[in-house]
Amino acid sequence: MIDVSDLTKSYGAIEALRGVSFHIAPGEIVGLLGPNGAGKTTCIKILTGYLQPDSGAVTVNGLDVLTHTRQVQSQLGYLPESAPLYPELSVQAYLKMIAELRQIPEEEQMPRLSEAIYAAGLEDHLTRPIGQLSKGYRQRVGLAQAIVHQPRLLILDEPTIGLDPTQVVEIRRLIRRLAEHSTILFSTHILSEVEALCDRVIILISGQIKADARLTELAATSDAVLVLDRAPDHVERALRSLGGVRGVEPLGLPEGHPAYRILGRQEAGAEASDLCPAIYDLARREGWPLRELRRDVRTLETVFNELATTA
Ligand code: ATP
Repeated sequence: MIDVSDLTKSYGAIEALRGVSFHIAPGEIVGLLGPNGAGKTTCIKILTGYLQPDSGAVTVNGLDVLTHTRQVQSQLGYLPESAPLYPELSVQAYLKMIAELRQIPEEEQMPRLSEAIYAAGLEDHLTRPIGQLSKGYRQRVGLAQAIVHQPRLLILDEPTIGLDPTQVVEIRRLIRRLAEHSTILFSTHILSEVEALCDRVIILISGQIKADARLTELAATSDAVLVLDRAPDHVERALRSLGGVRGVEPLGLPEGHPAYRILGRQEAGAEASDLCPAIYDLARREGWPLRELRRDVRTLETVFNELATTA
């Protein structure tokens, strides 16, 4: 649905994007995660045809954004960082104006508007001027304008920025509902947002993609955690002798039982291998009193911090 290839963009001496490429398939909900200044908004503005890259290509539904800008824009829903809302207009009048701008035929406007209003939970606020709405409700109006024309692709720039925790939960719920029918790409600098909403994350740091993977893949490590009932002799030495093990860290006696983290060797870029079967075989051969054996996982925060510090 979206193909981005080798995008670069500089503002004077600032290299905002340095060779960004990714692909988003129909039906995916993908988080573009990065710290402030990483290049997320720049990337999104290029994808939506509001900014020209210095080089590289973007196609949406097979259409080149640079040469078919209007056509692409008519097919997608876009919530910019600050949605262009008119504070003096009522919610209803504003959305009606958007329907006109989107050139939705008169007879289709009512059902389309009703659906967008219902999806965004704006039924009780139709006659209120947008300027009098809370930030969370203004964001809902921003989302409603992005979906009036029923796009199959939604691009949202920091959809929950500046909202209070209750509003964040509501907007996330709304995004999840929209994801049932649309492909969604949203930017954020909030790790929990990615964990709450998507399966896949693209991590952008200093204008470069540092990771592009499903959350489960990012979390996987080649490390394992072993808990025994009691510590037999030479456990650590035996574990170290296994192929693919680069070290063993005793974890003390959590809950009264000796525990060890067995560190796997993981080649950069390679998929994490699973040491558990080999450890299980060893434990059985040696007759160790096994309590627990599991693959260790990393949090997105750990992954993100590792990537950020090596940027
Ligand atoms: P944030 O999370 O803070 O919104 P971001 O990841 O969206 O950041 P961008 O807004 O794309 O990042 O900015 C990337 C870099 O480009 C930053 O260093 C920013 O200062 C710079 N930049 C963005 N827009 C402009 C502009 N119009 N003129 C000059 N520099 C710009």
